[in-house]
Amino acid sequence: MRIYLDVDDVLAETTRAIADHAAACFGRRVAFDDMDDFELERSLRLTPEQAAQLHRDIHADAFLDRLAPVDGAAECVRGLRADGADIAVVTGRPPRCRGLTERWLDRFGLAHDSLDLVDKYGRYEGEDVITLEAFEHQHFDVAVEDSIAMAEYLTVRGVRVLLFDRPWNRKAVLSSGAVRIDSWARVPALIDHGG
Ligand SMILES: [Mg+2]
Repeated sequence: MRIYLDVDDVLAETTRAIADHAAACFGRRVAFDDMDDFELERSLRLTPEQAAQLHRDIHADAFLDRLAPVDGAAECVRGLRADGADIAVVTGRPPRCRGLTERWLDRFGLAHDSLDLVDKYGRYEGEDVITLEAFEHQHFDVAVEDSIAMAEYLTVRGVRVLLFDRPWNRKAVLSSGAVRIDSWARVPALIDHGG
């Protein structure tokens, strides 16, 4: 059993931290549940200048390094791995984030068999990153994602997707076979029983 796990907003509480940072920087808080657009600048209703600053800030090592893990993630991943699953962490973070992400996973006991930085959204053309085309030959049985675009990409390729419930994916109609989950507590049973 090979299991694909996304990092941001699946293993790490990234967007909650981004909302806090934006409130501190720009003095305007948008409730997490109102962040219903995958693009942060739209969700947070930022000016182009604010958006540029936010993107600089949230890709800084210090910001990513401080992210909290999602409740129950480490315990669940440990259990899956102890049961023999191959844990493949697949993030859309930029290539330079590899070392930092590896250290963060280790720090929170998120043991894994591989870490791939994949250009999920076509943001890093020309950089040392795996393209979606190059990634296509990889096999996964199950994936845990919060991105609708990636959930669709995986479903089309026969991967069973557990979509981690987040405000920006709530309007989506799930492809057949995909299951919406609101916590890590649901994952072991869904993987064991295919429910
Ligand atoms: Mg994500």
